[in-house]
Formats: sequence, C-alpha cells, structure tokens
Amino acid sequence: MKSGKQRKAEIQLQRAGKAARAAASAAAQAVAPPALTAAMAACNPLQLAAYNSYGQPDFVARGYYVDEPFCCKDCGKQEVWTATRQKWWYEVAKGQVFTRANRCNACRRKERERAAEARRVQQQGKRQSEKEGVS
Ligand SMILES: [Zn+2]
Repeated sequence: MKSGKQRKAEIQLQRAGKAARAAASAAAQAVAPPALTAAMAACNPLQLAAYNSYGQPDFVARGYYVDEPFCCKDCGKQEVWTATRQKWWYEVAKGQVFTRANRCNACRRKERERAAEARRVQQQGKRQSEKEGVS
C-alpha cells in the first residue's frame, strides 16, 4: 500500500511527463509549418472583417485556407471552394468569417439576379405607395 505522499509524487511525475509531451508535440508542429501547396492560401488575420466571438475560424487557427468541397444548396452540384477564393472572400470582400460557400457559380448568379429583381420590385412598390400617400 502506498502512502498518500507517494501517490501524490507519482501523480505529479505523470503530470510533468504529460506536460512535457504536449509541449514537445506543440514544438514539433510549430517548427514544421506545412509548405503551402496550390490547395492552400496563407491567412492574414489582420485583413479579416471584425468578428465578435470567443472562438476563431478554423483557417485562423490553422494559419491558411484549404480547398473546401461543398454541395450547392440549390442544385446539389459538388463544388470546391478554393483556398484562393476563400482568401478573397474573407480578406478582400470582407465576408463574415463564419460564412461558407453555399451555391455553385451558376446558382449564385441566378440568386443574385433574383435578389436584385426582388429589391427592384420592392423599391418600386415603395415609391408607388409614397406617391399615393399610403404608408
Ligand atoms: Zn448550383
């Protein structure tokens, strides 16, 4: 039977070993950043749109964007949201950091036209009711 003191020393030793292993694996990851391939693009967190979250997007934690396959929500087509397009979306277009690609190019264009038409009709209706004095 071990004394409480002995057991405590054992646990502390185990903890120290665990911490050392964690530090070693973190160091291994830090010294070997993956070489960026065509399917990756470096992430510059300073260029991102502001976000108010305790978490951070995967690409910030990772440090780079990776090609992301997705299924178009309208036509169901399999598409790839490329790393360079993601970089553009988040850092140039300032898209919200937790948004993802949803539609293929063709459906995106259709959706943009549909939204523009809906906006136009809505604005027209508004002007019409203003003219008629209806609110
Ligand atoms: Zn589609």
